[in-house]
Amino acid sequence: MKLLLDVEGKVNYDNINKNTTVKEVLDAIDIFLDNNSLPCNECEESCCKKSWSVEIDNVCVNRLSDWKDEVALDFVQEKLVKKRNYCRDFDQYVLNKKTDCNFITETNLCTIYENRPIICRLYICIAKSYRYNVIRELIGSTYLKALVLEEKMRNKSFTDKTINKYKRNPAVFAKDYDISLEEIFNYAEDEGWLDIEEREELYKEII
Ligand code: SF4
Ligand code: SF4
Repeated sequence: MKLLLDVEGKVNYDNINKNTTVKEVLDAIDIFLDNNSLPCNECEESCCKKSWSVEIDNVCVNRLSDWKDEVALDFVQEKLVKKRNYCRDFDQYVLNKKTDCNFITETNLCTIYENRPIICRLYICIAKSYRYNVIRELIGSTYLKALVLEEKMRNKSFTDKTINKYKRNPAVFAKDYDISLEEIFNYAEDEGWLDIEEREELYKEII
């Protein structure tokens, strides 16, 4: 899988198959940004210093908590707040902040760069194709919802009936971003975020 600028000048990807992983998408973004660097040094937008939400996923929390449940519970309680995801209809966790991200330095460096949220990894501030945006949102939503479900499981606020439902999310207690897009799409269909026709569009090859 490779990211490129399509005929409309939008960020797009060439092709994916059922085994393409989220990690491959993230690697493709890094390579694309190496070849099409953004003018962050002189940018007046400073996206990490805006008032918009920084959504936090489970792998980010688990890495920053060294995979310790108690530390993860404290992190969520002390650093995050819930905010409605109206697009996907669930309450996700975002950083508790007003403007600047809690992890940005005065010289615009991210102090958690290696473990930064998946939303930051998927972010590219130039025009993007519809199919790239759909993939980005589905990946993001799956990992964001996984944090919500992990939090419930850690707080034991579930019943035997709901636990199997939570585990249908392939990112629940995932150690990394090595989940296939097929698994993400299956879950998205399950949640009503994606239908079969949309899914077929995502697999169409472009050159
Ligand atoms: S990613 Fe884009 S918006 Fe953010 S600082 Fe860099 S150039 Fe500016
Ligand atoms: S976590 Fe890092 S990359 Fe993400 S908004 Fe904060 S400073 Fe920026």
